[in-house]
Amino acid sequence: MAHEQHTYICIDLKTFYASVECVDRGLDPLTTNLVVADESRGRTTICLAITQAMKDLGIHNRCRLFEIPDGIDYIKAVPRMQHYMEVSARIYGIYLEYVSPQDIHVYSIDECFIDVTPYLDLYHTDAEGFACMLRDEVLARTGITATVGIGPNLFQAKVALDITAKHVPSRIGTLDDETFRKEIWPHRPITDIWGIGPGVAARLEKYGVYDLMGVAALDENLLYDELGVNAEYLIDHAFGREPTTIADIQAYRPQATSTTTGRCSRRAMPMSRPTPSCARWSTTPCWT
Ligand SMILES: [Mg+2]
Repeated sequence: MAHEQHTYICIDLKTFYASVECVDRGLDPLTTNLVVADESRGRTTICLAITQAMKDLGIHNRCRLFEIPDGIDYIKAVPRMQHYMEVSARIYGIYLEYVSPQDIHVYSIDECFIDVTPYLDLYHTDAEGFACMLRDEVLARTGITATVGIGPNLFQAKVALDITAKHVPSRIGTLDDETFRKEIWPHRPITDIWGIGPGVAARLEKYGVYDLMGVAALDENLLYDELGVNAEYLIDHAFGREPTTIADIQAYRPQATSTTTGRCSRRAMPMSRPTPSCARWSTTPCWT
């Protein structure tokens, strides 16, 4: 059987908690200065979210309240997690008007993956048209802006969201095997790439490797010596490959050694076994 070409999109709700707070106040999330933080916990409390307008002023996401310069006027919103979960569930409901639950993977409160492959013919559109349709529908009904990554697998869709979409006015980033090499191979820092944390980056630095192009050029045996069995994922990702599908994630049940699904289950797994690739993509939807 020929290998079927898939198209995935990854939709992220922009500065989600902060956007919800703006919309509830009748304010524009893109131009309002607002931070979500519980000031009653003191000036060292961490901001859970800040709006794009605050980011444009050079304020860092997840800063502490006292780090915001005095001259800046902004609204402080007390976090309402239950409410954000409800809005997130409502937006998931909008997606379900267009696609079947088996083709959606809820990755976090503000991020979903959708395998759009079966829907492009149905809606007479391409992946970008489909992404625009969902984005516009979410904006019209909730006031929340979405950013979208498009790719031939979950990994490239996620990287297209995290890296490519940031640099285009449409906020829709697209990657394929060719553009992946052209645009993502030289991208630095390498920790912007999904799944590559500071620990792996530090190990790669020992070999003078600072980007995925360097990983792709490195002797695989060195990578296995350095990272063990999980080197396989890094090598796959260096070439834009990702074997995990949404069906794999939905079928996946974590081992008895872990108490939760999701990224944290990795720690509960014995080091000698590779983490199943679907475990790296699964999280428990927060409203279930
Ligand atoms: Mg977001």
